[in-house]
Amino acid sequence: MKVHEYQAKSIFASYGLPVDRNIVCRTPDEAVAAYKQLGLAKAVVKAQVHTGGRGKAGGVKLGSNEEEIRQHAEAILGMDIKGFTVDRVLVSEAVNIASEYYMSILVDRKSKCPMLMLSRAGGMDIEQVAKETPEKIEKIVIDPTIGMSDFLAREAAFKLFDNMAQVKQAVPIFKNLYKLFVEKDASLAEINPLVMTQEGTLKAIDAKMTFDDNALFRHPDIAELFEPTAEEKKEREAKDKGFSYVNLGGSIGCMVNGAGLAMATMDMIKLYGGEPANFLDIGGSSNPEKIVEAMKLLLADKHVKVVLINIFGGITRCDDVAKGLLEAFKVIQTDIPIVIRLTGTNEAEGRAILEGTHFNVATSMADAGHKAVELSKQL
Ligand code: GDP
Ligand code: MN
Repeated sequence: MKVHEYQAKSIFASYGLPVDRNIVCRTPDEAVAAYKQLGLAKAVVKAQVHTGGRGKAGGVKLGSNEEEIRQHAEAILGMDIKGFTVDRVLVSEAVNIASEYYMSILVDRKSKCPMLMLSRAGGMDIEQVAKETPEKIEKIVIDPTIGMSDFLAREAAFKLFDNMAQVKQAVPIFKNLYKLFVEKDASLAEINPLVMTQEGTLKAIDAKMTFDDNALFRHPDIAELFEPTAEEKKEREAKDKGFSYVNLGGSIGCMVNGAGLAMATMDMIKLYGGEPANFLDIGGSSNPEKIVEAMKLLLADKHVKVVLINIFGGITRCDDVAKGLLEAFKVIQTDIPIVIRLTGTNEAEGRAILEGTHFNVATSMADAGHKAVELSKQL
């Protein structure tokens, strides 16, 4: 789960990390009031959205009087950044940057440990640095049974700074960031950039955190910050109805019984050159109501051009499934072509029931895949 910069900064502050003073605002008037309240000469107005790259998108702007702050807030509120509409801005104390550093702790799958990532080339181009000059990014695996010892924090600090006074400032930042990472069950805690100001103090001017969804039950205060995207809302609704559903953005809607078969169906669609719209496991029954709910879910996705139903009849018999489908499609009104593949117990009977209806009955998994991909390209 992601949180906004202002929320991450408030968690950072509670762990003694050096963040700037800031106020979150929803209107240009609020932004001006915040600027006055903070009593700042220079302030930065920043879009609060669940994505990075705000600076490059024009979502971070410096202002040094009320009029400028108002103009920036007006320009940034309502802006679209990578598909997210800005409904809040952060007005925060601007700092005089001497240099920008990158620092993060994440869970490294390879070592199965928390890992510290550091770079002297922090700032808005870190993705490019990672791609083109990966040697500029230091990685330190942290032994979770030992944690962030003083020794390790110093070793890390020396990777970023040469000057002893700066190293001394950085050590508690490493220790506190690690403490927060562990205690809050984060999967990522990132400061980019961590800046050295012209006055010689270290400041975290950006903050990013993501949390392990499976541990949110331990952190009701964080769980409360959840702001689902339209997709996540749909996935939750599906879960409440007993489906496992993941949107994938393609044009072939899939309705499958069993997670393994659903995975194989997506692989097959890809293999034949198509794009699955989703992963959907409807579970084991042929219950028409369940099929209706699943179809509603698929048809609500405007990218879906074809629906591919792939059912393996084990205990659920194919003729029952076929009857269930006919029943369900009395309720569902759609012009979208539906390809169906039924196999397993009573498959011949099942297919016979569907012959001559508006279902496009496939004879094998490969046939179904080809048909669905072809139809998705015709339309
Ligand atoms: P991101 O692009 O979404 O990662 O947003 P950041 O919060 O990292 O801001 C992007 C860039 O804006 C930073 O790398 C800085 O160069 C600049 N910036 C942000 N805050 C300040 C500030 O207080 N003073 C100055 N001078 N620049 C800032
Ligand atoms: Mn940043």
